Amino acid sequence: MCGIVGYIGKKPALPVLLSGLKRLEYRGYDSYGFCILEKKKDVFLYKKKGKISELQEDFSNIKGQIGIAHTRWATTGAVSEQNTHPHFDCHKNIFLVHNGIIENYQELKEQLIKEGHQFTSETDTEVLAHLIEKYFDDNLEEAVRQALKEVRGTYGIAVISKKDPEKIVAAKLGSPLILGINDNEFLVASDPAAIISSTRQIITLDDNEIAVLSPDKFFILKEKPIEKIEWDIEDAQKQGFSHFMLKEIFEEPEAIKKSIVGRMILEQGLAKLGGLDEVSERLKKIEKVVIIACGTASYAGKVGEYMFEEYAKIPTKLEIASEFRYKNSILDDKTAVLAISQSGETIDTLEAIKEAKRKGCLTLGLVNTVGSSIARETDAGVYCRVGQEIAVASTKAFISQLSILALITVFLGRQRGMSLTTGKRILQELEKLPDLARKILNKSDDIKDLAKKYSEYRNFFFLARKYNFPIAQEGAIKLKEIAWKIHAEGYPGGEIKHGPIALIDENFPTVVICPSDSVYDKMKNALEEIKARKGKILAVITQGNDEIKNLADDVIYIPKTLEMLTPILTTIPLHLFAAYLGLELGLDIDKPRNLAKSVTVE
Ligand code: GLU
Repeated sequence: MCGIVGYIGKKPALPVLLSGLKRLEYRGYDSYGFCILEKKKDVFLYKKKGKISELQEDFSNIKGQIGIAHTRWATTGAVSEQNTHPHFDCHKNIFLVHNGIIENYQELKEQLIKEGHQFTSETDTEVLAHLIEKYFDDNLEEAVRQALKEVRGTYGIAVISKKDPEKIVAAKLGSPLILGINDNEFLVASDPAAIISSTRQIITLDDNEIAVLSPDKFFILKEKPIEKIEWDIEDAQKQGFSHFMLKEIFEEPEAIKKSIVGRMILEQGLAKLGGLDEVSERLKKIEKVVIIACGTASYAGKVGEYMFEEYAKIPTKLEIASEFRYKNSILDDKTAVLAISQSGETIDTLEAIKEAKRKGCLTLGLVNTVGSSIARETDAGVYCRVGQEIAVASTKAFISQLSILALITVFLGRQRGMSLTTGKRILQELEKLPDLARKILNKSDDIKDLAKKYSEYRNFFFLARKYNFPIAQEGAIKLKEIAWKIHAEGYPGGEIKHGPIALIDENFPTVVICPSDSVYDKMKNALEEIKARKGKILAVITQGNDEIKNLADDVIYIPKTLEMLTPILTTIPLHLFAAYLGLELGLDIDKPRNLAKSVTVE
């Protein structure tokens, strides 16, 4: 969840660490801290609540060449300076940063307290510092190795010590950690983005490995090949937008394009997905698909479920990854498990993949971040290719996930009797979507006005049926994430009368997603029911529909497309609506309260 960066070499460490932390802030921004080992074994330790981007202080006198840094997303213990990493032992000899959760920290802490250790924070992380202290003789990596034997949970850690000062020790289990290799300098980070401006030579640590970095050499307690980063990090520029979230929503037409370009053979009605081609024979024998994901990605997955069943004729179900892992689903080698995750590091999804592998399933990934843990763990997969997403709430990656799910539908469908005409039709309509999406964004000012108008309400329902039901959930989660003073829920249109309608009155508006599709008439009924109870209605409808215009208080139009593709269009105004409403309420829409971009804790 958090960001880790460490440096050891011939330069002052701090500027490298600070630039890395800024790159990692999207992973957690409750608080940040670092420590630098100065000559004569002094340690400069700094901790601060809030965002690294707001750091003003001048550290030019800190010249030490060894250091570790951390940006926190609290799992255990409040957001406070005391709980900020790096954590240390009783004598302030050992300092460490940690990403993950130590699940047995309470029992370890009790034991350590009995043995005389004194704790200064409420975190789970601090037990690691004391455990390492307990085992420390004169060799840091040996103490780390001993300490980690007692730990249950997940970790990526970087540790330094005044008593063995010429090294950083790094270790991981479950949380991502990479090493950066340069001439006479080495780095460690939770994410390549943190170190790419220093080096492109990386080593990805595997679970249970321990690495030791010193100014002139490194070693891992196992031989590993050096890989090369082939991609470029886009500079985090807002390009004229006030916020990354707005920039990324306005990139949604391009995201559709990047997701589908070069991946369609129109004349043959085929989807050309290189990753899936490699396992195409195995895919032909698959009898069911389980899609696993969390949060927003799970709503994309739900749309995928509907697409696969209707068009590829393959039994499919969406499972929330954190549930899937523990519920003992019936799986076998005829099941394909498709994991969807923007970051490719979502630990619930990653662990679920491992479980599916143990049960013999074919595992597939749909991720945005190249080389991420899910991309490496799965048997095959498809990348979103939409570039780095910086705002915490996923927008363009979600749109890409939907577009690629449509391509996978054609891929699987054409293996299973989907006609050439149907395959072609879906692809032709997909190809038109970037232009149609642009038309919606051209009306962004209207949506901004609507956000202003609706900003006085504190509760919202989002309703839709069939393909757009998951988009109702997406609209609602975006609103509560971004405009978090508002409570919102997404429901299937048919469910409102089974309970939720009790809440409806003139102060409780509903966003009704109601394109002209096979469930249009049924949605109209729900709309009438709300109207009858004086509920305010904002309807998302197909261009040319004059009927709803008279029933709803406000309308947003989307252009016409194939029913299964409507979610790609209906999502766009809802993303804008959430963003503008958040701004209207004076909130930081790029970094909403309590959230982090890449959820690497269970
Ligand atoms: N569990 C640790 C804490 O709460 C690490 C959290 C993180 O990954 O940022 O401090």
